[in-house]
Amino acid sequence: MCGVVGVLTPGHEAAPLAALGLFALQHRGQESAGLAVSDGQQLMVYKDLGLVAQVLDERRLPSLRGEMAIAHCRYSTTGSTRWENAQPAFRLGPQRAVALGHNGNLVNTRALLELLPGRRSRLAGSTDTELLTALLAHEPGDDLVAALLSLLPRVSGAYALVVMDEGRLIGVRDPHGFRPLVLGRRSAGGWVLASETAALDILEATYVRDVEPGEIVVLDHEGLRSIRFAEGDLKLCVFELIYFARPDSYMLGRNLYEVRRRMGEELASEAPADADIVVPVPDTGNPAAAGFAERSGLPYREGMVKNRYVGRTFIQPSQLLRQRGVAVKLNPLREVVRGKRLVVVDDSIVRGTTTRQIVALLRQAGAAEIHLRISAPPIYHPCFYGIDTQIERELIASRLDVEGIREFLAADSLAYLSIGGVLDALDLPRDRFCFACFDGRYPVPVPYDVASHKFILEDDAVPGPGDRPAVDREEEPAAEPSIAGPA
Ligand code: AMP
Repeated sequence: MCGVVGVLTPGHEAAPLAALGLFALQHRGQESAGLAVSDGQQLMVYKDLGLVAQVLDERRLPSLRGEMAIAHCRYSTTGSTRWENAQPAFRLGPQRAVALGHNGNLVNTRALLELLPGRRSRLAGSTDTELLTALLAHEPGDDLVAALLSLLPRVSGAYALVVMDEGRLIGVRDPHGFRPLVLGRRSAGGWVLASETAALDILEATYVRDVEPGEIVVLDHEGLRSIRFAEGDLKLCVFELIYFARPDSYMLGRNLYEVRRRMGEELASEAPADADIVVPVPDTGNPAAAGFAERSGLPYREGMVKNRYVGRTFIQPSQLLRQRGVAVKLNPLREVVRGKRLVVVDDSIVRGTTTRQIVALLRQAGAAEIHLRISAPPIYHPCFYGIDTQIERELIASRLDVEGIREFLAADSLAYLSIGGVLDALDLPRDRFCFACFDGRYPVPVPYDVASHKFILEDDAVPGPGDRPAVDREEEPAAEPSIAGPA
């Protein structure tokens, strides 16, 4: 996960724009935020743990001067939640100064570490991103573009990058383009790079095109230059479209609200339910629930209210909040659900802990029956390309069959959308997507040591506060219910 933005605005300050663009990508990472600017002479970086609006506030932005900026918000997949691991990463090396923001996750970090003179001792933090930045600052070559061209063929895994030296803004996407990166043009002049098109909207930039898999886009005062460093074979993460990205963003020409609504329609056709109302799990379940309701002819009702101020930040929830679990975030609307047979629609089940609590809350509120409908297939396999679901045993579907999961969740029925249903909703060829979490086919091989843990560059390998592998994006569940079934 993570969100990245890059801005080049001749004649204007870039930092406020980059911060605004990053604000539109807050959902992509709530652990830390940061910004790097260049005034043409030198780079300056400001970053901290916290939300975008907390870190990049109006008192700080005026001191970050320059026409070029990159920004990043983080949701960790390698390395713990601490200041050193916030981004943009910055390195003043023997060859050059580099600032870099990374969305994705590398899978050959250990091998890359061998390339760094002084190895681990030369890194302050513990992320694959910091290592990549240090390598770029050390890599011989005329300039940053030459360094990228020489280094990237040795880098394996998922990376959508915004990179900067004093004079250039660069966007890079790995040869499979696992993570999205779009290029936009501002009506007032200049360029924008961003993880999602929603960030272009707020910057009054029009979408030009995607940065292509295997492409380096170099932006400077002379314009745009495109360089290929690898043959591209697009494997865009399908989970971006199902859950992660904003519904008002577009990917591969598809609006994600529409895609998700159609997933709900497909789900209603594949797995109808004898029920009274369709209730979304807010907010990510809303579009699919709308589609389910339309296709099934059942009324759509908001049966739960979400407290929008519960986020996943570096501040750990107090014991009191933790004990209350999902109830802190979602409160059932008793008037709506009491005595009703509900179809409850959500986009995915990862560990099952949140969903189980939701079912329990709805029952307490008087729901007569709860039929869970999930607008994605079961997540059987971990993701090593940037979604924080890396530990297989924590994925409930890797341990239990659908009936076992239904029993664990205490729902009256449970059904998932098929892969075919997802493809029908997308109306795009399967080979353009990575479906590894659903089908176990990993486009880039994952070495065993990566498959085993994400704290690969930590000295002590002890997770810090706020680090949980395979977690809910926002919820901090109360006690961990044990998952019964085969180990
Ligand atoms: P759970 O029942 O604990 O698996 O939580 C399911 C909820 O987590 C759903 O509402 C999903 O929208 C949400 N979710 C899906 N994928 C992720 C992810 N990678 N990280 C965090 N939350 C997720």
